[in-house]
Amino acid sequence: MKFGTKTVHAGVSPDPTTGAIMTPIYQTSTYVQASPGDHKGYEYSRTHNPTRNALEQSLAALENGKHGICFASGLAATDSLIKLLKPGDEVVSCNDLYGGTYRIFTKVFAPLGIKFRFVDMADASSVEKYITPNTRMIWVETPTNPLMNVIDIQAVSEISKVHNCLFVVDNTFASPYLQNPLNLGADVVLHSLTKYINGHSDVVMGAVILNDDELDQQIRFLQNSCGGVPGPQDSFLTLRGIKTLHLRMQRHAENGAKIAHFLNDHPAIERVYWPGLESHPNHEVAKKQMRDFGGMISFTLKDDRMETAIKVLSSTHLFSLAESLGGVESLINHPASMTHGSIPREERLKIGLKDTLIRLSVGIEDVEDLIEDLVKAIEG
Ligand SMILES: *Cc1c(COP(=O)(O)O)cnc(C)c1O
Repeated sequence: MKFGTKTVHAGVSPDPTTGAIMTPIYQTSTYVQASPGDHKGYEYSRTHNPTRNALEQSLAALENGKHGICFASGLAATDSLIKLLKPGDEVVSCNDLYGGTYRIFTKVFAPLGIKFRFVDMADASSVEKYITPNTRMIWVETPTNPLMNVIDIQAVSEISKVHNCLFVVDNTFASPYLQNPLNLGADVVLHSLTKYINGHSDVVMGAVILNDDELDQQIRFLQNSCGGVPGPQDSFLTLRGIKTLHLRMQRHAENGAKIAHFLNDHPAIERVYWPGLESHPNHEVAKKQMRDFGGMISFTLKDDRMETAIKVLSSTHLFSLAESLGGVESLINHPASMTHGSIPREERLKIGLKDTLIRLSVGIEDVEDLIEDLVKAIEG
């Protein structure tokens, strides 16, 4: 089945009791049993819920995986994955990360004895140097947030296999429309469904998708034992969002390309960070592993003063100044003070994240209007 057919049909089937074509919102915490232990596969909604199950199956299909497991947020999914480890274990992570991921690694799990090494993975072979006998997991986000670096998933997966590590790819920025890490050798794909997959900025949710049956059981055990599960209403909304994922992503990518080229040609712009540009340092890897380049773009202005960046950030009208990304509406963001404020300034500067960097999440509006909005903000 092709991608656009899966978004509409995978995981869902008419409701067995009424024939309702849309998966009902099973707004229930418990399920009646005929006699103790004699039930229809559902006992309690932390463990199983039919609306959530349909979503989990849909997500597994979109990532070409066998199992999908949903969580109350992307970070709840991250939390469960790191709980697979024990004190003394080590994680090699890319160094340009979603701020909340960096925070849970360094502020929650490092004090519990798990060691994180943050590595520039632009050259995948550099990962090898940081692997020790205690390394259990390799963590990659690609494209990275907010510098839009692209990491070679297949090359890292080969290193991961040699050293028997669990290889996790946070695929939030690309979405399964643009790339499928399991097909490139990843063991686990993580998503903040909050972003492109739900796509309407009205739900916070996360998921992991994987193939291994034993690992599925371990993570389901954590999902049920720690309890960070999404509710049926949000599961329904995400299922509904998924039905147009392919159409939205196509438009995000088309608009993204036009805006990236517009910025790249604009005399006031210093640098554009977008993997579709031929000048992008990892453009060849992006072309190899992604089907298109998406609508996430960062840029800096030649006028490097903070007040100039702040003026641009505050004067767009269609691009709303807000955290998050991947919704139908365009957003503009200041990583240094917003999404990446939890990363210390010296760490940000070390990886090249300037205080004046501006990040766009290009929506699905008419691109002429979006460009006009940016022209006015940049030219004043
Ligand atoms: C938003 C985000 C997360 C965290 O997801 P939440 O749903 O906000 O908890 C993780 N990774 C990336 C790349 C994100 O953009």
